[in-house]
Amino acid sequence: MSLIDMLQHLQSIDQEWDLKAQRYQVVSAHLGDQSPLEERRRSHQALADELAAMRHRLRDGELEFTSVQERARETEHALYSGRVTSPKELENLHRDLDGLRRRATALEDAVLEAMARVEELTDEAERDAAALQAFEEDWARERGALLEEYRALRTRLKAIQDERAQLRAQLDSAALRLYDELRAKKGGQALSPLRDRICQTCRVTQPSHKVQVVTAGNQVVTCEGCGRILYQG
Ligand SMILES: [Zn+2]
Repeated sequence: MSLIDMLQHLQSIDQEWDLKAQRYQVVSAHLGDQSPLEERRRSHQALADELAAMRHRLRDGELEFTSVQERARETEHALYSGRVTSPKELENLHRDLDGLRRRATALEDAVLEAMARVEELTDEAERDAAALQAFEEDWARERGALLEEYRALRTRLKAIQDERAQLRAQLDSAALRLYDELRAKKGGQALSPLRDRICQTCRVTQPSHKVQVVTAGNQVVTCEGCGRILYQG
């Protein structure tokens, strides 16, 4: 491998490193973040809690309705039993009975409303449980794929690291210094292909003595225009 071939290869693995290291960060962050799953489970739990609270309310309403009805029956009984004769007491009993009947009607309405809501929420919770299960299956599948990608990236990044270290050990320090400087300054692209005497990055025509050296490939030649290391491409 000529000096320029080695630099070209170094650049290609450095660029691969940049892309894969970036993706590695993204994948790692995704794997470490359980919040979408937790959020989905919380929302299902909220629905289940709402249903439980509504069932509770229904039960309370039913109990109260039964007890008010019972008291109305007792009041009615007292009213028509003939035991109470005082007009004042009879008037009170009438008023109590009216109140209890009104209360019973209101409670019955509330119980019917709560029943309908319990039914609605039961359906909704069942649908949501199925949706949550589908979400969890998707989540597990996606996690599996991400974990696989994470492992492949880690293996490849380690291989790139080793290959880069080997390659850099073979390159002379002046060429490496220039390469690193250009990579840092020129958006990661230290080399540029030369075709028909023209640098393909900045389109500047190179003098013929430079073209000859580039063709040989054993020496570093930089572009007259953009300063990148030229290779025959
Ligand atoms: Zn150039």
